[in-house]
Amino acid sequence: MPIGSNFIRPEIAGLEPYTPILPLDVLATRLGLPIEQLVKLDANENPYGPSPRALAAMAGGHRPMVHIYPDPEHTRLRAALADYTGQPVERILCGAGADELIDLILRLCIAPGDTVIDCPPTFGMYSFDTSVNGGRVATVVRRPDFSLDLEGIERAVAATGAKILFLTAPNNPTGNLLPPADLERLLQLPLLVVVDEAYVEFAGVGQGFGAQVGQYENLAVLRTFSKWAGLAGLRVGYGLLPEWLAAQLWKIKQPYNVSVAAQEAAIASLADREHLLANVARIVAERERLLPLLAELPFLRPIPSAANFILCRVEGRSARELKLALERQGVLLRHYSTPLLRDYVRVSIGTPAQSEALLASLQALAT
Ligand SMILES: *Cc1c(COP(=O)(O)O)cnc(C)c1O
Repeated sequence: MPIGSNFIRPEIAGLEPYTPILPLDVLATRLGLPIEQLVKLDANENPYGPSPRALAAMAGGHRPMVHIYPDPEHTRLRAALADYTGQPVERILCGAGADELIDLILRLCIAPGDTVIDCPPTFGMYSFDTSVNGGRVATVVRRPDFSLDLEGIERAVAATGAKILFLTAPNNPTGNLLPPADLERLLQLPLLVVVDEAYVEFAGVGQGFGAQVGQYENLAVLRTFSKWAGLAGLRVGYGLLPEWLAAQLWKIKQPYNVSVAAQEAAIASLADREHLLANVARIVAERERLLPLLAELPFLRPIPSAANFILCRVEGRSARELKLALERQGVLLRHYSTPLLRDYVRVSIGTPAQSEALLASLQALAT
């Protein structure tokens, strides 16, 4: 071990390195395919891209101010979000993606050895950031239908004194909703419940659990512009938070965490929400069209979803081999190596043309 290793926090030194996703141009070169030919259905990105008004706002718009530091309080963006969510600006805090807010909440609450409850299969960042922050992850696996094991969570809280429970609604990658009665029951537990609503716009539930923030001391909701607003590359998300949590997070957030470009694009997106929500409706319609077509393939069992992706169980063949065979044809899906998801692939919903390319490749593999 090099001497420098002595300076590393032991909980970090013991972590497995994170496997990053390959940039599209690198992957295209590796596959020997032109980049325009790739059908990218692996990261739940928006196939219709951002609002033209967001692009114009970033290009200069009415405030060409990239030489000036961004507003650390995100004043205009929070006002626009108050209008969009119905929550007061005092309960809103923005981050460089919802991912930054997950990390900030953990940095705020978790001392080394404290416990966080994670309910896989779910989004990987909760357990990743818990480990980075020196916390312990208590895992309560979902039931076979991917609903939450409520008794298991209650037992884990009693046994560990956990401080935070992360839930995702709709869940990624399984696509199922969180029943309001389940959340209501879990909010009785003595811990902070963070509900990640990254996909709420696709779920047809209005403002979802975001509307209930403020009614409970221990409910926080996370949102993002990455999926519905097509701004994944800009990194902008927000929390709807009880006042006590917002006040403490303000103390530790980096002042300039959301760039000028990201703030302007997010504000313009909210002003152009009708256009963006029409794209969301097209994605939802495509999801409903694609589900029965995927079910026709003898080796796929697609699971109904309330988000912009469909998880499919792969039967009678290897899910990983299927993912790699599609990749060689330029169709990119998500596969997970974790034991709970080894037999699944996740298909992000693209345009109808992208679905046709996917179906053609799948049918070619069926014969
Ligand atoms: C995509 C995703 C995020 C990431 O949001 P960013 O704003 O891009 O950081 C957060 N939570 C879930 C469940 C996601 O799927």
